[in-house]
Amino acid sequence: MTRLCVPITGETSRQMIADIETAANAGAEMIELRLDYLSEWNNDSMKELMNKARQFGGEVIATCRITDEGGNYKGDENERITLFELAGQSGADYIDVEYETWKRSSELREKIRALCSLYDSSRSACKLILSKHNLESTPTDLNALFSELTLEPCHVVKLACKARTITDSVRMLEALKQSAAIRPTIGLCMGETGILTRVLSKKFGALLTFASLESGRESAPGQISIEQMRSLYRWEAINAETLVYGVIGCPVAHSMSPAIHNAAFEAIDYNGVYLPMRVEHDYESFADFIDGCRSLEGMNLRGCSVTIPHKKHLLQYVEQHGGDIEPLALRIGAANTLCIEPTDGESVDRLGALNTDYRGALDALCEGIGCDRKRLGKLNVAVLGAGGVSRAIVAGLHDCGSKVSIYNRTASKAQALADEFDCTARPWQERDNLQANAVINCTSIGMWPKTENTPLHSRALSKRTAVFDTVYNPIETRLLHEARRQGCKTVDGVAMFVNQAVAQFERWTGRKAPVEIMRQVVTARLSS
Ligand code: NAP
Repeated sequence: MTRLCVPITGETSRQMIADIETAANAGAEMIELRLDYLSEWNNDSMKELMNKARQFGGEVIATCRITDEGGNYKGDENERITLFELAGQSGADYIDVEYETWKRSSELREKIRALCSLYDSSRSACKLILSKHNLESTPTDLNALFSELTLEPCHVVKLACKARTITDSVRMLEALKQSAAIRPTIGLCMGETGILTRVLSKKFGALLTFASLESGRESAPGQISIEQMRSLYRWEAINAETLVYGVIGCPVAHSMSPAIHNAAFEAIDYNGVYLPMRVEHDYESFADFIDGCRSLEGMNLRGCSVTIPHKKHLLQYVEQHGGDIEPLALRIGAANTLCIEPTDGESVDRLGALNTDYRGALDALCEGIGCDRKRLGKLNVAVLGAGGVSRAIVAGLHDCGSKVSIYNRTASKAQALADEFDCTARPWQERDNLQANAVINCTSIGMWPKTENTPLHSRALSKRTAVFDTVYNPIETRLLHEARRQGCKTVDGVAMFVNQAVAQFERWTGRKAPVEIMRQVVTARLSS
């Protein structure tokens, strides 16, 4: 079973002792004493530290990483060997030594062999992890690198490489899986796109994955905190059968979708995990990533939310692979949801692309007004803006039969959209005189930090007009605030955001989404 290992990076043994306790309370299943972080030590302080580490309850790794491989140790090599010996003799379960040092130093090999009783596993006092770190990139020949390490007389092999793209992480998972079938293995990618390996290594049988004690205390780039690993990414629930989902975009680091979907999985006890997936801007990167995940046995990628800049790429990919595309998504020219469904007895899976943005918006509007889609089709709706969100909503409204007027700052864009979906373009300056049953703001006006702005003068609002602002930060925009005071029915952008996630969730899981929990997650995030 893959364990959650927290690197202990205090600068003094006293700090390390305190951190060990914090790690144990946070749920660490293993600790790595990063002795290279110690500014000073002596025999007594090391013994005291090791004494405390032994009481921690899980296994203990002692590491003293040199700078060439991402550590802090710049001191004397003999002193480093003494540190290893002290740690090993005082009860460390594992000693982590870099493969390059192992090859280079016969003295170190000699001493570590004695310490770990290598070649005679029955007497093994402490185990050897042979590790290799590439701080620049993830080499193409990962299997060969793992095999090379496996040829050495060690107990565990470890590869940690910088992921340049998310596809590097998919390759690492593949290589980890193969190596773990032969020898206990640690395989991970560093950097933002390495998150896939850090969370999913449990699906592929790694000995451990690292998680920092807290945010800001990472011992390597891209490490997630133990709190996030357990509460956001559902560490305890992950196993080989876990189905994988995620948000593909660039950037994705601040996406709220992982928090929403993982909380929803947790609420209905669904064996799934949802991750941020940063994929470079071009179509090839998008296609390589999906291809890599689909061909990696055991990955179980079942669906993705797809955001800027890949909404068109999703249509292209699903079309090229003979999947099903929702007709309205095709008409909009953008999809935000990928579905991957296994087919019984066939080696190929079935792909689907749909657009839940327009669906989420129309559902929010219907809920806010208190009507169904049929009734919505009888209303006059004014849409402010002619960008991507407006396009999806106008297409959805047109599909329902609503009479739509578009107001946009750049008149030519309003006209082009109106021509395409058979509606009317109106001059932007006339928006304060609009006559409609509902008005939808699809511009970014009023969005944080310029929350004092509003796209409509309050005199344009009458209580017979329902007002829907797609802007969700802040939750109550100035437009919505003024509309509420005028007695209008109001719909906020969070409702749209949550509804599009609900539609994705229900399509992927076939289960009813815990809507209230999903909304709470979004509002809590926005409020903080
Ligand atoms: P977009 O494609 O860039 O379009 C932006 C629109 O806003 C354009 O029509 C633009 O007019 C107009 N605009 C921007 N600044 C303006 C200003 N100062 N005065 C007048 N018009 C202005 O963006 P988008 O993807 O459609 O997103 C629009 C908004 O939707 C976002 O800001 C976001 O708050 C919201 N949104 C909500 C959700 C949700 O789930 N609730 C999801 C995504 C986005 P021009 O054509 O003249 O430039």
